[in-house]
Amino acid sequence: MAPIKKAIIIGGGPAGLTAALHLQRTNGITCTVYEHRPTSVTSGGSIGIPSNGLRLLNRLGLYETCARLGNTEDRFILHSAWDGILAEASFSGAAKEKIGYGYMRIKRTDLISVLLEAAQKEGVRIHYNKNIVSIEDQDDHVTATFADGSSDTADILLGCDGIHSAVRRLRVDSSLQAEYTGVSAMFSLLNRAALPEDAPTLTCFNSTFTTDGVLAIIPCTASNDDIFWFFSGEVSVPESGEHGWEVYRHKEVQEFKSAILSVLGQVRGQWGDFVRGVIQRTSSISFTPIYRLPLGGTWSSGRCLLLGDAAHAMQPHASQGTSMALEDVFVLSRVLQHYSNRTINDMFTKFEELRRPRITRIYNASEQNGQLWKKTGPWGLWFREIMAWLMFSVTSKLGWKIGVIPSKDLIYDPEEMVA
Ligand SMILES: Cc1cc2nc3c(=O)[nH]c(=O)nc-3n(C[C@H](O)[C@H](O)[C@H](O)COP(=O)(O)OP(=O)(O)OC[C@H]3O[C@@H](n4cnc5c(N)ncnc54)[C@H](O)[C@@H]3O)c2cc1C
Repeated sequence: MAPIKKAIIIGGGPAGLTAALHLQRTNGITCTVYEHRPTSVTSGGSIGIPSNGLRLLNRLGLYETCARLGNTEDRFILHSAWDGILAEASFSGAAKEKIGYGYMRIKRTDLISVLLEAAQKEGVRIHYNKNIVSIEDQDDHVTATFADGSSDTADILLGCDGIHSAVRRLRVDSSLQAEYTGVSAMFSLLNRAALPEDAPTLTCFNSTFTTDGVLAIIPCTASNDDIFWFFSGEVSVPESGEHGWEVYRHKEVQEFKSAILSVLGQVRGQWGDFVRGVIQRTSSISFTPIYRLPLGGTWSSGRCLLLGDAAHAMQPHASQGTSMALEDVFVLSRVLQHYSNRTINDMFTKFEELRRPRITRIYNASEQNGQLWKKTGPWGLWFREIMAWLMFSVTSKLGWKIGVIPSKDLIYDPEEMVA
């Protein structure tokens, strides 16, 4: 088979930029990224990256740069709604001791800037304002055409264009639709300077269960000066249907604040006063309904392959979406190296064979964690707190290190999977 020399990458998020950087550097494939936004700036907020993803960032040579920007405290504190600390434990459980990486919270814009700069240094070209309108897959090449009339031709095309992927719709699996998880998130970033001088300095992930969802407040810069908070809970689809989400997105900040503050009224003690103060001092709030893709869609067709959320968007409740995109890229790179004498179809089939079981497992773990975000009553809340206390506090007193997902999933090394 003729070697793969050139790749078109649709989407300049974590999956697309990592694929471009790694495949160009490691596999010698010339990659060009086409992003439909006018610039690289992504919507705000922050993301958590656990041990398995951090190790891959390190293999890309980017861990240290990210660690200088983000918060790398592996500890989390769970506050009881009835006052006091319920549990203090580590995200990574025993994984940090085993592989040396714990947990990082980083602003989405910072992560994208680091990946973008690294990809550009590697010589990757990135074009913005590019809306893909058609994909023509032929025997020995694939051609993408964009709304502005331009086109490009390559050996393979990677659809890294997120949950509502145009590549999936145009070429790979037009039947697969994103589905609402029943849970939505409201979130914001604010600077510590917006808080009263006597507000406690937060250095790690702090959260509280309520009857209506979970509130978390997390520093997401190395200086702990930028604070990200989210309140995530069950929200019904608007009566007007899913297009009615726009109404939520355009709600006034005061309306969101009132809704969150009314739920947080049930959180007692100094922590309750603090979290309400944070919400009150927030000047803008974003709303996002959380969608996922049903498991089992098709990931490749001809010379096109989906990576990251475009293939397997999952609930964010195990903080694994970005890490799954990174793992996809490392496995693809290895498969292209190890099976270079096979056909593209064989290589993409091998990729799927290696990734499906892992994705299914993490997808299900995320769904299971997401149950804690669902509405409950006061007794249900009490039960959740007891379970969290048993799982994290009691076990840590016994010397066991339990993370938010099993440690074997956090020490998983995707490169070892390709023999
Ligand atoms: C509320 C929320 C919280 C989350 N929290 C976390 C977390 O803590 N940790 C974590 O790891 N993950 C988290 N995630 C999931 C995470 O955001 C994704 O898994 C991750 O961003 C996937 O990267 P991706 O590159 O595959 O897709 P995306 O990040 O969606 O990037 C896709 C890119 O493609 C571009 N694009 C889209 N359509 C086109 C097109 N037609 N043509 C060209 N370009 C296009 C987009 O503009 C974007 O730049 C969260 C998700 C949500 C919704």
